[in-house]
Amino acid sequence: MNSNLTVYNSLKGEKEVFQPILPGHVGMYVCGPTVYSNVHLGNCRTFISFDLIYRYLTHLGYKVRYVRNITDAGHLENDADEGEDRIAKKARLESIEPMEVVQRYTVDFRDTMAKFNALPPSIEPTATGHIVEQIELIKEILDQGYAYEVNGSVYFDVIKFNKDTLYGKLSGRRIEDLIHNTRALEGQSDKKNPQDFALWKKAEPVHIMRWPSPWSDGFPGWHLECTAMSRKYLGNQFDIHGGGMDLKFPHHECEIAQAESIDKTPPVNYWLHANMLTLNGKKMAKSTGNNILPGEMFSGENTLFSRSFSPMVVRFFFLQAHYRSIVDLSEAALEASGKGYQRLVEALDNLDTIDFSKTTTGFDLLQWKERCYEAMNDDFNSPLLIAHLFDAVKFINAVVNEKSSINKEDLENLKQSLNVFFYDVLGLKKPETKNQTKNQSTLEGTLSLLLELRNKARLTKDFETSDLIREELLKLNVQINDTAEGSSFKIN
Ligand code: AMP
Ligand code: ZN
Repeated sequence: MNSNLTVYNSLKGEKEVFQPILPGHVGMYVCGPTVYSNVHLGNCRTFISFDLIYRYLTHLGYKVRYVRNITDAGHLENDADEGEDRIAKKARLESIEPMEVVQRYTVDFRDTMAKFNALPPSIEPTATGHIVEQIELIKEILDQGYAYEVNGSVYFDVIKFNKDTLYGKLSGRRIEDLIHNTRALEGQSDKKNPQDFALWKKAEPVHIMRWPSPWSDGFPGWHLECTAMSRKYLGNQFDIHGGGMDLKFPHHECEIAQAESIDKTPPVNYWLHANMLTLNGKKMAKSTGNNILPGEMFSGENTLFSRSFSPMVVRFFFLQAHYRSIVDLSEAALEASGKGYQRLVEALDNLDTIDFSKTTTGFDLLQWKERCYEAMNDDFNSPLLIAHLFDAVKFINAVVNEKSSINKEDLENLKQSLNVFFYDVLGLKKPETKNQTKNQSTLEGTLSLLLELRNKARLTKDFETSDLIREELLKLNVQINDTAEGSSFKIN
């Protein structure tokens, strides 16, 4: 186990040596998406940042329990305590069930993350699957005297919590400034103070996502789900909590208040926050329309860029910046990343064709490897790691051009290390080879032809042939689906 890892703890505002609570084990919670629309590239950047962190911790030998939730209830418009639930609103606009909205965008999220080669978390719990736990948590906070009920809703008493402990530790906001800056909004008159936040909201008659509770038929406040699920799966105190910078306040600040009001100790040892992806210098966001979807990027069907970029080039582009730096998305920067990624891939291919010599000249492998680990151990500095990988690329090219040489042992070591950093740590993949793409299109063409022959057989009522095609294809894991619109195949 490598004990030299330092991480930047947002709570302390400085880097600290990473020491997990249970040696060899890491509990990590990352706030997941609110599944009311497709994730945009900004969301993806944050999840890829934590994928890098998860991968590196795992590579170091830690047994990581990585929990990333799905927010499928309670997140109201404008992150506020009043207004419509984002998922219910989408369901209303499209005349479908809220759970259809949730299903559609959860599937989209998982597909997108898989395209980016992001590993799935160990547990992916949903807010609606943990209503009971959230109700129990509210009871505990009420018992401790840090919450109050008004007209069927329950609110967290921020002023009382601030007196006894301190509210604003993570975001550095002082309660005095918050009091000064928050106006009591219309409809918030139930709260004792405008800074208080909802733990449970009584549902208006039109609110369709509702559950029974001791206080009313209603729904949990957005901040509560993460406290309930992190406690359930990682315990009252765990190692890492992550999310985008914009979640520091109020979301994470409220999570700290909820947990500390019960336990009187900080719930999280290291708070890690990933910085924002911007477009035209402004934060990429769903609400402003200043965003681009991953699908639009991969297909090239967008008005922003003149060509498409593959998931691996986009991932590489993200990793070329430190997770705590702001990144602006531009075609020129993506082009440059595409070239860099290609150079790296070519060097990996060249490594397989290189002949070894008696001696290594022009490269100190041990020192190079150390520098790579130093980079990652310094708060997951992937851009520095990538710069070191390019030093290796230069050396490989020099060996190819017979300007340097490498001995057998170094060649094996270099291959092994480059593979570890490229595939395991950075989570990159080589592009599909021309042969793979060709094979794929041959397979799809053949299957389409078989479908056509089967359709002809069905038209002439030759069911023996049509059934034979279907059954034989099924044995090869190809499933045919017949619908009113026609037939299609799926390779399982
Ligand atoms: P949401 O679905 O809006 O709750 O966001 C999911 C995650 O994406 C959160 O961790 C946000 O902090 C993060 N996020 C939102 N916008 C951006 C952005 N422009 N760049 C990077 N991360 C973002
Ligand atoms: Zn959260």
